[in-house]
Amino acid sequence: MKYDDYATLLGFQKIKNVYVLNKEGYSIYLRDWQYMVLNIPSFYIPLDKEITKDAIKALQIEALGNACAQASLGNKRDTLIVTLPEGNKIKKIDLMNEILNNVIECLKDMGYLPMHICPICKHEAEYGLFGSHYCPIHKECRNEYLSKLQELNKKTTGFNIKYVLALLFVLIGIGLGLILPILLTINLHDYFTGVLALIPILATLGLFLSKAPSKKWLKITVGALVFIAVATFLAISIPYMIEYTESKDTFSYFFQNGWVGFRKVFFGGILSLGGFGGAKFLDKFKKDYSQEIDALMQNEKEND
Ligand SMILES: [Zn+2]
Repeated sequence: MKYDDYATLLGFQKIKNVYVLNKEGYSIYLRDWQYMVLNIPSFYIPLDKEITKDAIKALQIEALGNACAQASLGNKRDTLIVTLPEGNKIKKIDLMNEILNNVIECLKDMGYLPMHICPICKHEAEYGLFGSHYCPIHKECRNEYLSKLQELNKKTTGFNIKYVLALLFVLIGIGLGLILPILLTINLHDYFTGVLALIPILATLGLFLSKAPSKKWLKITVGALVFIAVATFLAISIPYMIEYTESKDTFSYFFQNGWVGFRKVFFGGILSLGGFGGAKFLDKFKKDYSQEIDALMQNEKEND
């Protein structure tokens, strides 16, 4: 697991799949904070009330400049996130301990106490695993939450008109992306390699605008369409451009005078995979319940 290297050095104990530490009554657990496209290893501390912006500012200073933020386990932003210092964590054990001590002192000073009610039903509960979180939770509440998530997830399975829209937008994107390279090839008998990047970029934009649910088959299809478009363009445009060179010789076009042909195929090849990359990149911005569901199912399985 990701935190195995240093969690125990910090005094954390593994409870099933989550590292937990009790410090002066506060439960702290390790979890990745998903911020935009980043997964940042962080401390999570569930508290008894909503964390204000001023408190975050004060905490950030105590956390020695590491980012602090609020997370919500139920509907209140009452769980503090403190990101871990970057770089080699094993070398920063002392620093991380200092951060934890400072943060806990600051929480006490500001009157923030550990969370004591279940974030689902708002009644007192014992601490336990709640997916990849560790907070007061009832087993029944966790099951109820899991069913709701599974219901939400079901909505993204089966046929959705947005898939059709996605494919249409992606094809339009590819079509628009091809216009400039084609015009340049016909008129100047050369296109600038960078211009080909328009194809994966506009295809990814099309996928984004369709707001289609993230599906593996869709991402593969988008990637394949971009690949086919770029490869076909290269296969047609290169022989065409060779005809306009002085020697009309394929070998010299590829491997002499600056290796023009070789470079076009090399960079074109990289850009042809851009659709796969673009679709994968968009995924990072989508709410994906499957991981959370997996984590919740894991709690149940191991409790039985
Ligand atoms: Zn409950």
